[in-house]
Amino acid sequence: MAATGERITVVGGGLAGCEAAWQLLRRGHRVRLCEMKPERFSPAHKSPLLAELVCSNSLRSNAPENAVGLLKEEMRRMDSLIMAAADVTAVPAGKALAVDRTEFSRLIEGRLAAEQSLDLIRNEVTEIPATGITIIATGPLTSDAFAGAIGRLTGEESLYFYDAISPIVEGESIDRGRVFAASRYGHGEADYLNCPMNRETYEGFWKALTEAEEVPLRAFEEFKYFEGCLPIEVIARRGIETLAHGPMKPVGLTDPRTGARPYAVVQLRREDKEGILFNIVGFQTKLTWPEQRRIFRMIPGLEKAEFARYGSVHRNTFINSPALLTAALQLRSDPRLFLAGQITGVEGYVESAAMGLLAGINASRFAAGREMIPPPPETACGALISHITNTDRKTFQPMNVAFGLFPPLTGRIPKKDRGLHYARRALIALATWQERITNGLLR
Ligand SMILES: Cc1cc2nc3c(=O)[nH]c(=O)nc-3n(C[C@H](O)[C@H](O)[C@H](O)COP(=O)(O)OP(=O)(O)OC[C@H]3O[C@@H](n4cnc5c(N)ncnc54)[C@H](O)[C@@H]3O)c2cc1C
Repeated sequence: MAATGERITVVGGGLAGCEAAWQLLRRGHRVRLCEMKPERFSPAHKSPLLAELVCSNSLRSNAPENAVGLLKEEMRRMDSLIMAAADVTAVPAGKALAVDRTEFSRLIEGRLAAEQSLDLIRNEVTEIPATGITIIATGPLTSDAFAGAIGRLTGEESLYFYDAISPIVEGESIDRGRVFAASRYGHGEADYLNCPMNRETYEGFWKALTEAEEVPLRAFEEFKYFEGCLPIEVIARRGIETLAHGPMKPVGLTDPRTGARPYAVVQLRREDKEGILFNIVGFQTKLTWPEQRRIFRMIPGLEKAEFARYGSVHRNTFINSPALLTAALQLRSDPRLFLAGQITGVEGYVESAAMGLLAGINASRFAAGREMIPPPPETACGALISHITNTDRKTFQPMNVAFGLFPPLTGRIPKKDRGLHYARRALIALATWQERITNGLLR
């Protein structure tokens, strides 16, 4: 297709950058895609190809009644290059979509390279381009020099270099008979669910935590922890009382069933207004997922907890999107700049590619002077946009897509059918939205 639209620069030829470039090419733009490989590799990237999967070859569930399966389906309906390549290069993996990673990257690079309107520049970008519309998609391991440039743009305090994520459990899986709702010293509303422990339970929990298996650190992850964000098991190893005086302190909390202060308390904080998801406060961790499940289920009230997200601490460059980005992934302070991929505060291959897809559509609309129309929050794409641009900027942390980020369903729907209802509602909303934005396509 001959380019008729404005030339747009995309920095980073990973999952988000390739998808953004593709969407721009589809809309008739000339695209300058800048990728630093093979001149320079991040500590995790190994292949010279574009769209490299740095770790697992799985893109997780393919079933639309699962949130990430739904996100994939939405992307397919929006002509996603990443999804097309994944479907063609899929390898058998049950209900998951796993791919032959080399074929996957090769196919994406081949499709992009065949486009006459694409200029592929193999250089590290160290400064934000001074003019023209630009999509920044340099990922969780953005090169140091470019991260410095982003920091100067956003303010250093709004650029983070690692995640310290606490696990999130599904509200319905909490045993309400074993926890009590209260805020410390009775201040404000009874906003927290408190899981009380007596001394014996606490000591058993502490012991299990200190002996649990951790995910080994990779060489490039030997960061220094901030004292305020230490993994829970690191705090525990400093002594048997450190948790009871730290993240599990019971001060200002009285268990209404005993009238007494528990020996220790684990607090659960709502992640959403409806209480679909709860965060285990201060429990950022590097324990393996099976160990998190085993040990955190020792907490009174969480014996049958279902985990919507496991805790983690890992290297990750991302910005404080709720403070910095519009729902079109545009920098509030400089609207010609868009961000896409994991750097926006989503987590995961598919989520990152989805943000590339939306940034591509939006940048094209911006170039054409068209209105920005974010996808509705009922869609998986829209739910992710809401999470990264409409949550509390003080507590913002990256998330995978999950139904807990969607507006709740109305009516009483059995748990086993909810995924299907979310998916049906999303795909109807997506079709309406697509009609609106397709009217504005350049092609
Ligand atoms: C070690 C690690 C393992 C992960 N494992 C998984 C997993 O198993 N499953 C999962 O779903 N998610 C995983 N993720 C999270 C995330 O989904 C992936 O990192 C995903 O690739 C992010 O997509 P992206 O397009 O934002 O960034 P990337 O895919 O990393 O793409 C960014 C691109 O920008 C390039 N680049 C960086 N700086 C510059 C610069 N200054 N100039 C030019 N080019 C530059 C990089 O070389 C890279 O090609 C992992 C992340 C990390 C760090």
